[in-house]
Amino acid sequence: MNKKVLIISSSPRKGGNSETLAAAFAKGAREAGNQVETVSLREKQVGFCKGCLACLKLGHCVIQDDAVEIAAKMHDADVLVFATPVYYYSVSGQLKTMLDRANPLYDTDYAFTQAYLLATAAENAPETFEGTEKAVQGWVDCFPRCTLAGTVFAGGVNDVGEIAGHPALEQAYRMGKEVWAEDDDADAKTKHANEMVFPIGAPNDAFAKYFVGQSYLAPLSTAQVGIYNVTFEPGCRNNWHIHHAKSGGGQILVCVAGCGYYQEWGKPAQELHPGDVVNIPVGVRHWHGAAPDSWFSHLAVEVPGDETSNEWLEAVDNTTYFEAVNKKA
Ligand code: MN
Repeated sequence: MNKKVLIISSSPRKGGNSETLAAAFAKGAREAGNQVETVSLREKQVGFCKGCLACLKLGHCVIQDDAVEIAAKMHDADVLVFATPVYYYSVSGQLKTMLDRANPLYDTDYAFTQAYLLATAAENAPETFEGTEKAVQGWVDCFPRCTLAGTVFAGGVNDVGEIAGHPALEQAYRMGKEVWAEDDDADAKTKHANEMVFPIGAPNDAFAKYFVGQSYLAPLSTAQVGIYNVTFEPGCRNNWHIHHAKSGGGQILVCVAGCGYYQEWGKPAQELHPGDVVNIPVGVRHWHGAAPDSWFSHLAVEVPGDETSNEWLEAVDNTTYFEAVNKKA
């Protein structure tokens, strides 16, 4: 299942090394199908915590600056990623100030269960990163449902751009790529399976390269007319594609469980529920898949025809997908 990932970058320099490290993590997390947002503290006004503790009664801070909105985003995110340069063996002042200003989240129903720390430093000694990790670990420990799930440290980088080619970039990219919820998935999948009479089937490995996220395939009929039950994990969708045929052909979707979407190129997406039927003519560029927060299954009926083929095109990137399903550009 995809996750809401919030990256808080505290790099004071545009294109700075920790910001570049954050961008690598973001790229991986996006490619895995997650919803990723990066907040750059450099562009924000974040004042020091006054220690008044009014937030614990009000639920928000009394200081009206950008930290209020950032804390609200932190509350809703599933995954928090902190990117910081190491300053005097700890986090940057900007990040520490923001962590303090996130105090309104203490003892709330915050969503985040995982935090990551990405850091860079000019020095590259084994102990260079220790204080920074300890600072963030200390904050995470105050939020019992959350754990510090991973850290990446790039030492020996100072000038802007010096991180280029550093192995930490690849490490951050891979760590981002692994952000995809496993924990609650088993339960949700079982619940979805129980809602329909057709099996979910096996992981759709043969077509995985044409999907974002995990899909499953259960062949129901392979004679006369091909009928397959296709199941999509939340957020999963197939690439833009076109069903071709010289005559006849095309595809019919019969929705059987969950909530999903169908979108034709240049048109708004259509929300799909069990019982809905979609007739997809040949030659129409389209995609189909699950809603971000729901499993989805449809029967794919392959309409017989002469010289039928599928043309697979580019993936439906997150921007396109979320715009389509949120119905707002
Ligand atoms: Mn199709």
